This record gives sequence, structure tokens and C-alpha cells, in this order.
Amino acid sequence: MKIGVLGLQGDVAEHVAALETAGATPVVVRRVDELGSVDGLVIPGGESTTIGKLLARFGLLEPLRRRVQSGMPVLGTCAGLILMASDVIGAEDAPHRLGVLDVSVRRNAYGRQVDSFEAAIDVAGIDRPVQVAFIRAPAIERIGDGVEVLAEWEDRPVLVRQKHMLASSFHPEITGETAIHRAFVAVATQNRET
Ligand code: GLN
Repeated sequence: MKIGVLGLQGDVAEHVAALETAGATPVVVRRVDELGSVDGLVIPGGESTTIGKLLARFGLLEPLRRRVQSGMPVLGTCAGLILMASDVIGAEDAPHRLGVLDVSVRRNAYGRQVDSFEAAIDVAGIDRPVQVAFIRAPAIERIGDGVEVLAEWEDRPVLVRQKHMLASSFHPEITGETAIHRAFVAVATQNRET
């Protein structure tokens, strides 16, 4: 299973390592032809305004949107969630978003960089708490009808799934965890088989 990691900005290497441990073959994606060769894609955390601008500049925004809309599995974490969301609430919109996931998010809702924290969260389908990190994380403030909540933190959804799309407010890749990557590889495998 070839899983791409969007490599324009953000913590790319950590996702590559986690995917490898989860049994996938990771590929860094920066160009349209590289996008064409993968069975699924991780959109890492970083800065959503920057990643969005680079997606537009490298001509990836439309091709990526089309592939996700036609069923390519995607995992968006933190800034990746913002890029996937259909709406951004508040003054800080990120231009050049994909808008493929039926949720509304608010950027930087968990405070500034210095307010970053780790938490052990319960995730549907995973039989032990998963250690994750919140770094200037977006809050999910609305979820659409077809969106399933897989994890909450302090009564707010922090991991959601809509069909072949998974997205998290948190970073699952910098705490030495691979459970979320394994779950994503399972979604991608299921998607290929159906
Ligand atoms: N605060 C960033 C944004 O709004 C996201 C932070 C992250 O990805 N860790 O894009």
C-alpha cells in the first residue's frame, strides 16, 4: 500500500516513519505525477495558510481535490484538518483549502505554541489510550450528518471520519505512536478492496 505524505511544509519525516511502522510504503508527494502514484495521502500539520498557498502554486490543489472527491483515502492532521474542512469559523481563514470534509473548524482554538500539550485519548476501535499532541490545534465546532466522531477531548470532537477521510485536531505522529496511522492504513486498504 503506497501512502503519500504531502511534503510541502510541516512534519513530513515523522509521518513517513509512522507509516513505515504501520506497514505502508510511504512516498513524499510534492508534484502532480507523484500524487497520481499513491493509494492514499497524509496531509501533515504545519501552517495551513502556507501549505494551501504551496498547493495552489504547485498546481496540486485542484488535482488533489478531485482525487479526494473521487475516493482517495486521506488523513489530515492539524493544519491538514483545516485544509480539508468545508468551513473555517472566525477571522483567520486559510485561503486555498480543499473543502472536502463536512466540518467547521476554528484555527488556533487550543491556544498558542507555548500552550501545546500531550494527552492520552480514547479512540473508537483502538483498545488502549493513544498518546497525541495538540500544537496550536484547530477545534472542530460543527460536524455534518455523514461525519462520525472517533475521539473526543474535553467534550469536543478531535478525530473524525467521513467515508474515506480521517482528520484530527491533534498530531498523532510526534509521540512515537502509530495507532492512528494503522487505522488509516486499514481505511485505505478497505477502500481499495471495495
Ligand atoms: N495553527 C496552525 C494553522 O492554523 C496549525 C497548527 C499545526 O498544524 N500544528 O494552520
